[in-house]
Amino acid sequence: MKVTFLGAAHEVTGSCTLLESDGVRGLVDCGMEQGQDIFVNQEIPVPPAELDFVLLTHAHVDHSGNLPLLFKKGYDGPVYATPETCNLCRIMLMDCAHIQESEADWHNRKGKRSGKKDYEPLYTTDDAQTAIDHLRPIRYGEKVQIAESFTVRFSDICHLLGSACIEVWMTEKGRDRKMVFSGDVGNYDQPIIRDVPAKVAEADFVLVESTYGDRLHDRSKPSVERLADYIQRTLDRGGNLVIPSFAVGRTQEMLYFIREIKEKNMVKGHDHFPVYVDSPMANDATAIYLQCDRDCLDDATRALVDAGVNPIWFDDIEISVTSEDSKAINEDPVPKVILSASGMCEAGRIRHHLKHNLWRPESTVLFVGYQAVGTLGRRLYDGEKKVRLFNEDIQVNCEIGFLPGKSGHADRDGLTEWLRGFLQKPKMVFVNHGEDKTTEVFADWVEQELGLKAFAPYSGTEFDLIESVFLACPEGIPAKKEESAGGAAATDLYRLLQQRGDDLMSLIRTMRDKPNKTNRQFVKDVENLLKKYQ
Ligand SMILES: [Zn+2]
Ligand SMILES: [Zn+2]
Repeated sequence: MKVTFLGAAHEVTGSCTLLESDGVRGLVDCGMEQGQDIFVNQEIPVPPAELDFVLLTHAHVDHSGNLPLLFKKGYDGPVYATPETCNLCRIMLMDCAHIQESEADWHNRKGKRSGKKDYEPLYTTDDAQTAIDHLRPIRYGEKVQIAESFTVRFSDICHLLGSACIEVWMTEKGRDRKMVFSGDVGNYDQPIIRDVPAKVAEADFVLVESTYGDRLHDRSKPSVERLADYIQRTLDRGGNLVIPSFAVGRTQEMLYFIREIKEKNMVKGHDHFPVYVDSPMANDATAIYLQCDRDCLDDATRALVDAGVNPIWFDDIEISVTSEDSKAINEDPVPKVILSASGMCEAGRIRHHLKHNLWRPESTVLFVGYQAVGTLGRRLYDGEKKVRLFNEDIQVNCEIGFLPGKSGHADRDGLTEWLRGFLQKPKMVFVNHGEDKTTEVFADWVEQELGLKAFAPYSGTEFDLIESVFLACPEGIPAKKEESAGGAAATDLYRLLQQRGDDLMSLIRTMRDKPNKTNRQFVKDVENLLKKYQ
């Protein structure tokens, strides 16, 4: 019985962990890396066709985005997730596939001019549809046996609609172990969804995220008041307030706040200021939020619904569906609020709004969520004064703002509080889903503050859950920028070499009971190999 850490190891994105027990193997999350790749992720060491299940903590792309690729590579089994996560994945995986296809189109158009051969998308809308067809809903709180050696239960972790921490019970040769995956732990004062992440009382092992594991959120002023200040200031100057916002989750929260701002007349002198939602996916996601199970909502939102108030809708919302609608937004000089995706400014319509507003001192770009290293959003957030968009250098003259404390993630205290829920001390707390140093800092904190053993594994780390020992404990391999095809090939080759090294170690572990004669020869062969390359 073992766990292998593959993705979001010493970095924030690309969550993926392999569990094996009694010959049954499955993944917890199958996420896509976003922004700059910091460390090389090991390939899943099992052919996808031989995996038995996937458990999905929530719909965010850094947890779900590689599912279509997994199916493309031969996986054909179930993907278990909560009903709301399944609903959100239907739109998000399709959107990811559309992005992959249009990027491939762009490369091919560019390649044609320079005579380069066909560029294949990472995966297609057909692959996404296959993944969607394999989604299997499991409701919060239900204990479900998904294989002879695996039983699971999802509980609300209050990070995104449908988000869950997952308890996994495993058996092998009559021995039991339980591992709990935190998923992304929610921030307790978010609007719309429930506020207090479900605690788990028992676990042998825990994998906990650490996005904000070395920081505390600033709660000195409610987010809704700060947002009202930004709207007031920007509209007074005659500019636009541009909010790069994840289409799913953050956009609905912003709509919730703006409804409240309008209802309480918190912005003066701009009655009926228009609010544009310029993201087709955001509009689909809003519909899913409006139809979700009441149990997923917090008390305040449920009270609004009971009073007949739509919590995320108001009269002055303008929806842009077509790209013509989108372009018209910037032709109209009326000061306005624009919500658009993607949240980290890497793709999508937001880039057009940035092009039209970054150079304007009267406008504001307001960040309302985590910006991964290497993304355009992060560079703007860090104060870069000139950026390149659509082959044009654009001077950044607008106000750059952010809503402190506005995060879907718990801060250090929130994570600590969640870990305090374990009444019996887990044997080990593994820390992932944080920037390199943050994972280490939070692991140290867990040891000192909670007296628990904690460790931040790099990709490729293997741990025996029965014997509580590391089977492989590699260092992280910094990802090199793949500038040329040659560079990419070298990285792939190095990755292959590492895999063979791991194979060799696996083989050595089986050699203990072999005859001395065989092992003597084996030692000689390995020594010769070492001599040859050292
Ligand atoms: Zn998330
Ligand atoms: Zn995440």
